[in-house]
Amino acid sequence: MKEFINLAVEIRRVKIMLSLQTSIVGRKVIYLREVESTNDLAKLLALHEDEGTVIVADRQTRGRGRIGRRWESPEGGVWMSVILRPPLVLEDLPKVVFMGAVAVVETLEKFGIPGKVKWPNDVLVEGRKIAGILAEGKAGTVVLGIGLNVNNPVPEGAISMKDVLGSNVPLVDVFRTLIARLDEAYSLLKERPASIVEKAKSRMILGVPVIVVGEDIEGIAEDIDEFGRLIVRKPSGEVVKVVYGDLSIRFAQR
Ligand code: ADP
Repeated sequence: MKEFINLAVEIRRVKIMLSLQTSIVGRKVIYLREVESTNDLAKLLALHEDEGTVIVADRQTRGRGRIGRRWESPEGGVWMSVILRPPLVLEDLPKVVFMGAVAVVETLEKFGIPGKVKWPNDVLVEGRKIAGILAEGKAGTVVLGIGLNVNNPVPEGAISMKDVLGSNVPLVDVFRTLIARLDEAYSLLKERPASIVEKAKSRMILGVPVIVVGEDIEGIAEDIDEFGRLIVRKPSGEVVKVVYGDLSIRFAQR
C-alpha cells in the first residue's frame, strides 16, 4: 500500500466537482495525478471501498493490459478503474468486460465516433485500438479497468479520439460521459446479464476471418454465445468456441 500512496502525488475527491448524477458507478471518485496502475490500486482499496468507487489518474506509470502487457498511459487519456460487486460468478467475468466495452462504444458515439468491439476486450476505431478493457475479479469483487485514448499520444497502430476528430476533446466531458454510460450498463448487467452480451454482440466485429493467436485456430468469427465465447467456424466447417481468457484474435486477410 505504501508505494501506492507515495506515487499518489495528490488524491482529490472530485464527484461534486463533476456533478455526477449516477446511482452506483462514480458515487465516489478518487483522482490521482499519477499512479502505477489504477487497477492495482483499486484492487487494494476494494477491501474498504463501497462498490462504484472510481479511481482515475492523469497518467499511469505501469499501466497493464492482459497478462502483464504494458498499456501506455501518458497524460491526456482516461485511465480509470471502478470497483464493482456484481451478483455474478467468476465465469461471468466476460460480461463485465462487455459492459465496459459497451460503455466505451456508447461514449465514443456521443462524440460522433463510430467504434466497434474487438473480441474480447478492445474497442477499435478505423481498425485501430482506441481503448482497452481489463476486468480482474476475486471473491465477489471485480475491478473493471478502462484505458481510453483521448488527447494522448498513442503507440503505433493505435488511435485516439483527437486523431479521429482532428482537435482536442474535453477530457472531463469524456470521463463524465463514460461514467454515466458505465452506470447505465451496470444496472443492465445486474438486471439482465444476457442483454449485456447481446449489446456487446451488436457492436462487435463479426463475420470476418480471424486467427486465434497461439492456438492454431483459424476461421470466420461468426458469433458469440451467451457466455461471451467467440464462435469460430473453421474452413472444414468445424465450429470452435473460444473461451475468454488470455487469448487474442488477429484479423486475417481474406
Ligand atoms: P490484446 O487484447 O490486444 O491482446 P491487451 O488487452 O493485453 O492486448 O493490451 C495490451 C496491448 O495493447 C499492448 O501489448 C500494446 O500492443 C497495446 N497498447 C498499449 N498501450 C496502448 C494504448 N494506449 N492504446 C492502444 N493500444 C495500446
